[in-house]
Amino acid sequence: MRQRDLTIFRKRLDDWRQELLTDATRTVGGMGEDREQFPDPADRATLEDNRNLELRIRDRERKLISKIDEAIGRIEDGTYGLCEECGGEIGVDRLKARPVTTLCIECKSAQEETERRSRAPPARRHPRDPPEHLHTRLLWNGCTAGADSIPESAG
Ligand SMILES: [Zn+2]
Repeated sequence: MRQRDLTIFRKRLDDWRQELLTDATRTVGGMGEDREQFPDPADRATLEDNRNLELRIRDRERKLISKIDEAIGRIEDGTYGLCEECGGEIGVDRLKARPVTTLCIECKSAQEETERRSRAPPARRHPRDPPEHLHTRLLWNGCTAGADSIPESAG
């Protein structure tokens, strides 16, 4: 990728990160204030729902921020824009739409296909057959015992 593009993506990622951090701070500040304003239990229940939603959003934001950090790291070590699966170019257009992606469109599609399949019920695996296993071990132990019991013959 050209240095000019890298600079643009770096700037974009930095801005995005800053934006998310600012939002996160505002959310935390807001939670405390709201609690004071709703002494009614019903309102508090609604508030709890909102709070859970906010926490979920914040969780997602945190994950996104760490993805952004990783992307910035890749810009710094020169691997940004390379697919981590096949090593090919992800492409500037795709990166513009999803600046934190680590996969080219082909590998992403393949991954989604795999995920879709893995959501289907897994094939039933045959459990190891315990009696046979036990039997084998008993035989082995028997052998050992037998070997021990064989008197050492003079060679
Ligand atoms: Zn790829």
